[in-house]
Amino acid sequence: MPLLLQVKIFFRKLLIFINHLPRLHFWMVIGLLMFLLFISLIPAELNHEQPIKRELTLPISDALQGEYAIAEPLNAIRADHNKLFPDFSGNRNIDITISGGDTLSAIFSREGISAAVLQDLLEADAEHLRLSNLLPGQEVHLLVSPDNQLLSLKVVIDRVHTLTFVLKDGEYISDMQVKEGEWRNSYYHGSVTGSFYVSAKRAGLTGSQIQQVSGALQEKFDFNRQLRAGDTFHVLVAKQYVEGVYSFDSEVLAILIRTRSATYTAFLNEDGRYYDKNGKGLSKAFRRYPTNGKPPRISSPFNPHRLHPITKRVSPHNGTDFAVVVGTKVHAVGDGVVIRAGFHPAAGNYVVIKHGRKYTSRVLHLSKILVHKGQRVEMGQVIALSGNTGRSTGPHLHYEFHVYNKPVNPMTVDLPLSQEVPKKDIKAFNKRRDSSLREMGETLSDL
Ligand SMILES: [Zn+2]
Repeated sequence: MPLLLQVKIFFRKLLIFINHLPRLHFWMVIGLLMFLLFISLIPAELNHEQPIKRELTLPISDALQGEYAIAEPLNAIRADHNKLFPDFSGNRNIDITISGGDTLSAIFSREGISAAVLQDLLEADAEHLRLSNLLPGQEVHLLVSPDNQLLSLKVVIDRVHTLTFVLKDGEYISDMQVKEGEWRNSYYHGSVTGSFYVSAKRAGLTGSQIQQVSGALQEKFDFNRQLRAGDTFHVLVAKQYVEGVYSFDSEVLAILIRTRSATYTAFLNEDGRYYDKNGKGLSKAFRRYPTNGKPPRISSPFNPHRLHPITKRVSPHNGTDFAVVVGTKVHAVGDGVVIRAGFHPAAGNYVVIKHGRKYTSRVLHLSKILVHKGQRVEMGQVIALSGNTGRSTGPHLHYEFHVYNKPVNPMTVDLPLSQEVPKKDIKAFNKRRDSSLREMGETLSDL
């Protein structure tokens, strides 16, 4: 029997059944139906204040290994997050962690990016000198279009520096992001047993901090001859923390050496030099020129708005060019540490020296480098021989001076040239000195 017919018969029987019900029963059925309809129309919110409670038990044993929960690394979560927003442009995101022997040129050829692009990037990197020697562990992120054009390149150099190149109107525009983080002070002290180096190491100072200490006082104090067993040293160090992690950048703020006969002090001033408690200079002053003898002829001055002779685009000249013959001795302009030295296709052989937290100097196109990364140099020390390497139109010395990572005119910059803290700065110097002493548990009157 077809289904429709069955349903028809059922309803007919139901009607006949209802019609045959006694009057009272008929009204009871109607009443019941009305009641059900009414209940179904009562809004659900009336029950809202009584949430359903249910015990939830997680299989904890699965999430534990040993006694530790297995956590997913943060970057893995971030990568998953990106997948939630698919990119329909067809661009490829390529993330690489540099391992030993990796070069940008190898990475580019693997990804099918033209070698000419690398040349353009290296030109744009002349300001930063970072692309020529990528180090293991550094992260590189590429954004490549479907026709293999490099749209952007990001290099995470370290915790502090991230360098980005973005293609704009056929040109790569570079941007160096610097995280300042937070500087916190640590106090180290101890008494001398054996050499100063060994005693200071035992107190917790690093090799480069010990070099900063001995460098700051070297004109006043002989650490080998004047120090006796039982003499004490007190050192305050500022350390940089980026996102809560020590960046390994540090600076010695204050030094106090107590021998049986005298007390020696050194305090770092804003200008990156050390002065004694009375503001008398301990480090040598800066020099204006990186060469000896009479100032060399300037062949091209510092010019932040220079038009590039070939591209006709604004391409700043971040330094001063001196017309000197190949092999001219190049001198450090101040005490400092060599933070980078090597070869760059645009800059040629180069040396970068950090003079405290505030100043950096650079010399480019050298024929020979006479120092190495990490080496401490003194003002006047010969660090290189001038040359004509890299993208250079003739023998010359390109010299840059940076204040807080920004290139300035090395011929006009206000250099700390005098042997005492200038009068206008003495109040600020005394304030910093007293606060350093306080952190070391010392007072000026006890020195
Ligand atoms: Zn130049």
